Amino acid sequence: MHLDRYLSKYAGLSRKSILRLLNLGKIKVDEQVTLSRDHPVNDFSKIHIEGKLLNLHKPARYFLMNKPAGILSATTDPQHTTAIELIAETEREDLHIAGRLDRATTGLLILTNDGKWSRHITEPKQKVPKTYRVETVYAISPQTANLFSKGIYFAYENMTTSPAEIEILSPTSCRLTIYEGRYHQIKRMFAATGNRVKNLHRESVGEIKLDSALRPGDYRALSQAEIDSIW
Ligand code: URA
Repeated sequence: MHLDRYLSKYAGLSRKSILRLLNLGKIKVDEQVTLSRDHPVNDFSKIHIEGKLLNLHKPARYFLMNKPAGILSATTDPQHTTAIELIAETEREDLHIAGRLDRATTGLLILTNDGKWSRHITEPKQKVPKTYRVETVYAISPQTANLFSKGIYFAYENMTTSPAEIEILSPTSCRLTIYEGRYHQIKRMFAATGNRVKNLHRESVGEIKLDSALRPGDYRALSQAEIDSIW
């Protein structure tokens, strides 16, 4: 929404006083003075008026879910039940998923209405580690660890994955830590080694670990320490 509309709607300021404050350089958006009434803002923009933070934001909410197989990482879908639909109706408004999982993938899913916070999880440059238990169709080849530590080239994105760490658990299972969340990343990494992923389960994102008390489909609010661990 444009800044002038946002301020008149949510801060009760008249258009005239908004223009006056803008002309005097008294309004900052995300720490930068703005002179433009059209400056785009949203509920997560940090707006200061004459040095005072405008605090109209809805309280931020952060959830950790044990995602069951078959549930879509999406807000709505005409065909499949979505992860958002598993959240109580009173709590689900404005939520989005911080790092999607494929429909068959199980485990740790994070949902929030705080876009700035979730970008820290999803932006590849932040390099937040994501750890998965992986079961493969074929035996994991001895070259896999080396290939993953060098990075796998993805032609579509024209990028090479960050060095990933693999801990072999059995001939066809491992624990794998990756640092991005590209589309089907782990499936494509294993495909590059001539293997195929059979099951995928996310155990942790940064320091946030899947809670063993949560049954598939259950969720809980993140603790303050878990929220803070992402910044
Ligand atoms: N990599 C995948 O291929 N799928 C997921 O769901 C997560 C990571």
